[in-house]
Amino acid sequence: MTQKVLSSDACVLCGGPQRARYHLGSHRLLYCPRCKLGQLSPLPTDAELQALYASEEYFAGDGAGYADYAADDPQHARSFRARLEWLLRSGPVDDLLEIGCGPGLFLVEARRLGVPHVVGVDPNPWAVAQARARGVEAHVGSIDAIDAGPRFDAIVMLDVLEHVVAPLPFLAAVRARLRPGGRLLVMTPNIRSLLARVSGRRWVSLKPPEHVRYYSPRSVRRVLRAADFDVLTMRAARQYVTVAFVLTRLERLVPRPGHVLRRVAAALRLSDRVVFVTNGSIDVLSRPSTSIP
Ligand SMILES: [Zn+2]
Repeated sequence: MTQKVLSSDACVLCGGPQRARYHLGSHRLLYCPRCKLGQLSPLPTDAELQALYASEEYFAGDGAGYADYAADDPQHARSFRARLEWLLRSGPVDDLLEIGCGPGLFLVEARRLGVPHVVGVDPNPWAVAQARARGVEAHVGSIDAIDAGPRFDAIVMLDVLEHVVAPLPFLAAVRARLRPGGRLLVMTPNIRSLLARVSGRRWVSLKPPEHVRYYSPRSVRRVLRAADFDVLTMRAARQYVTVAFVLTRLERLVPRPGHVLRRVAAALRLSDRVVFVTNGSIDVLSRPSTSIP
């Protein structure tokens, strides 16, 4: 593969040159070989992103946004429970904030698992209305919608960090809202995952313009370190899905074999079977490296 150095686009983590990896319509994916961090170019402005997230279309789902979220299916709840149990094994949580809470399903599960106080923020007013309809305290906006001060034992960001144009000030604002001993749980697509590498430019997580940064185990560790977080654990993220879901995704990637497999699974009545599979993302649990007493 021929790669060309672009002097105008420096890596946000190391300041070094990034290389063009893919052309994605009117955007390019740049990649820092040192940090293993991908970045969209050109970066959207804050105003463009706010307009995108605030639209009803984004929430309703048009192939992007919350499309996969619309089905309020039991597999989502089960996947959320598994992730919550992982978080709770690192210590008790009384106050939990979710950034990008969507319609509030994760927070509902958190409450079911005994977290007494949950709060969500999301830039999409329709999502926030749904979360409130589920009885969850939710606010339109991002971390700035939450009063400053160390108020939370855990802050959760599932599929959020890849949307953040300026991760360091964002993570500083997150850190300022964690109590001493508090933890940050991040799930984000892994550009070094097998799924990403096999899929190439058709990787399901390559989503311009809203996915602006594409992390790897190394670069997520670097960005958290730069924001004064210590990584406690990192693992390949997994989720519960039906066999039909996996094969529909596969069919998009490799249409013929995917189609055949989907037919075979249907004939064998395996389509509704639920499996726990890696989804090409990473789960990262971290905590502020220096706690203010
Ligand atoms: Zn770099």
